[in-house]
Amino acid sequence: MTAHRSALQARPDPTVLDALRAVVGARGWIDDPGEIAPYLDEQRGRFRGTCAAVVKPATTQEVAAVVRICAEAGLAVVPQGGNTGLVGGGVPDGGVVVSLTRMRRIRAVDPLNRTITVEAGVVLSELQDAARDAGALFPLSLGAEGSCRIGGNLSTNAGGVTVVRYGNARDMVLGLEVVLADGRIWDGLSALRKNNTGYDLKHLFIGAEGTLGIITAAVLKLYPQPRVEETALVALASVEAALTLFGRVNDAAGDVLTAFEFFSRRCLEFCVAHVAGVADPFAQGHQAYALVKLSSARPDDPLRETLERLLADAFERGEVSDAVVAASEAQAGALWRLRESIPEAQKAEGGSIKNDVSVPLSQVPAFIDRASAAVDAAIPGIRVVAFGHFGDGNIHFNLSQPVGADRAAFLAEWDRIDRIVADVAAGLGGSFSAEHGVGRLKRADMRRYKSAVELDLMRAVKRALDPANVMNPGKVVPFD
Ligand SMILES: Cc1cc2nc3c(=O)[nH]c(=O)nc-3n(C[C@H](O)[C@H](O)[C@H](O)COP(=O)(O)OP(=O)(O)OC[C@H]3O[C@@H](n4cnc5c(N)ncnc54)[C@H](O)[C@@H]3O)c2cc1C
Repeated sequence: MTAHRSALQARPDPTVLDALRAVVGARGWIDDPGEIAPYLDEQRGRFRGTCAAVVKPATTQEVAAVVRICAEAGLAVVPQGGNTGLVGGGVPDGGVVVSLTRMRRIRAVDPLNRTITVEAGVVLSELQDAARDAGALFPLSLGAEGSCRIGGNLSTNAGGVTVVRYGNARDMVLGLEVVLADGRIWDGLSALRKNNTGYDLKHLFIGAEGTLGIITAAVLKLYPQPRVEETALVALASVEAALTLFGRVNDAAGDVLTAFEFFSRRCLEFCVAHVAGVADPFAQGHQAYALVKLSSARPDDPLRETLERLLADAFERGEVSDAVVAASEAQAGALWRLRESIPEAQKAEGGSIKNDVSVPLSQVPAFIDRASAAVDAAIPGIRVVAFGHFGDGNIHFNLSQPVGADRAAFLAEWDRIDRIVADVAAGLGGSFSAEHGVGRLKRADMRRYKSAVELDLMRAVKRALDPANVMNPGKVVPFD
């Protein structure tokens, strides 16, 4: 393996910084250390970066000019959206941060083609609102939607709670506009649903975490807006029972199944203990819970009947222990709050080691069993806090410190525990990173779990598109 050529400047020439500043103007320029600070940290405090400046271009042409100057000067370019990523992908290690936050125009809505064309800096919740205003749905939805940007969502191929129905961010894209590593602009803003004309280049940039180019705009699919929704929280005796229920719901509800989220009893106990306004909707405790949402664009779709019938059948077969079907939007909101407040509740229980693995759906029960036994053997008393996107085989297998343990000593075990969990997932045909990506955090895992052939292909792509290694160097693909 040859290392990727890297002649990046450690300390940028002041004339290069002047040239960058001239492109973006005073409104798009930050070099005050205090103001730069928020762009150097990541959500979980695992990395702290450095950079010479933050540039905020307002147009694609400005992004192109910035990248061209950086490429010629050998200055690293680190794209950033909302900086909500969880693997340190947007944390700079020198160079300049290119923040897309000023590029937030909705360029076009085409209701007949059912597409929306947006700039990379549009906040995900604003994009959802724009789709709603056009009488449609943009279905990508995740906890950080009030601050993450669509460019970041596409660059991480974000998942979220609706993958079971609509797929990952990748599945919602028809076209992209990208500034390449040499500063050229690729206008791939196609609004076509069928276009088999050679390599589908957009998919190289989606999920590349800014290592191949900067996404500046996208053509996204719009979907029919749901007119009816039903939500139920189902109490179950085991993880196996959740898998059986998932099959039953799929068979009975088909494509109106919109979310199938899972959490364990411990998750619910943590929420009730630590989150204001959260209550256990059941009279007694259960081992596992599934949050099921059905939605349909047909106003007269009998979703409630479908849900109640399938739950009654499952109850009769002894496959579910109890269930609450939300009687109002407020009740549905309260059930979702249970699922969404798990990370907040976990904080109150001391140190937590987070995880984002996936396995084939059929292997979720085996994964939770084996991984629980393996981490308990490593740290007796460790508390498994398993929850997540069950319908995608994506479990956030989080771990809280044993009661009374030392927080710092527990967190020092992060890498060892991570490895144990990822090994179990890999043994079941799974992935060490289902939706958060690789960034800086999981580069070593790439070497451990990817085949030599796969790594060679990735390195070849990186070298071909970014021969000078300017775009977000040191992230995703290991060269050293
Ligand atoms: C509370 C919370 C809940 C979350 N839930 C989920 C979830 O359910 N599913 C999920 O998948 N993720 C989730 N995440 C992770 C994160 O929100 C997503 O990965 C999100 O898509 C990142 O968007 P961002 O704009 O914040 O990107 P950033 O964090 O700014 O960047 C992420 C990566 O993309 C690159 N990048 C950013 N913009 C561009 C661009 N325009 N062109 C090229 N590269 C770019 C960066 O260099 C970096 O490598 C969650 C995070 C939080 C804090």
